[in-house]
Amino acid sequence: MDGALPGLSPSEQLLIGLTRLGQAVRLSAWHNAGPTKLTPLQADILLFLAGDGRPRRQGEIVTALASTAPTVSDAVRALTAKELVDRRRDPLDTRTVALTLTPDGRAEADRLAAIPAPLREALDALGEQDVAAMLRGTTAMIRVLQRHQAIPVSRTCVTCRFYRPDAHPEDPDRPHHCAFVDAPFGDGELRLECPDHQPAEPPGQAPA
Ligand code: SF4
Repeated sequence: MDGALPGLSPSEQLLIGLTRLGQAVRLSAWHNAGPTKLTPLQADILLFLAGDGRPRRQGEIVTALASTAPTVSDAVRALTAKELVDRRRDPLDTRTVALTLTPDGRAEADRLAAIPAPLREALDALGEQDVAAMLRGTTAMIRVLQRHQAIPVSRTCVTCRFYRPDAHPEDPDRPHHCAFVDAPFGDGELRLECPDHQPAEPPGQAPA
């Protein structure tokens, strides 16, 4: 015996924990379907369209949500029937359709943005340092998965052209720098979804 606990390794245990958390988030989305009985995908589409308020093409939603064109097409059709999403010809390219939220869709997106109580309580159970460590860890994992194209590139700091990791080694609390707002920040402020994100070049690679 080498003194190690038997069974799965810590990283394998972590993967099980992340899977359980993913299941809890998905279950919470079903419970939070609201008055128009949104599916989790329909809810994700509303939140995506609410992200920066710009009209979006259906293809952008397919990419951002790592879904398929027929699945997103069905969900958009349902959201249009529920009068939560508006479909208009894209003024920049009249061959394509641009999607925006209706006022009711915006209200639903606002409702969805509020974290349900059980998830809020679970997050509140974490200390500041736990949140920073988990953000650092999930950000690193997401970056690797994006490099392998296992998940779509999202608007995270680590794929952003404004991100300067460890630009302030003299400040362990706020070692990174955001060139967009020209300010240092710490692991606890890493963004996994940022409206000011602009992709680094080449895609998926932030400046060192
Ligand atoms: S603009 Fe947003 S995503 Fe980009 S580095 Fe700044 S905070 Fe991060």
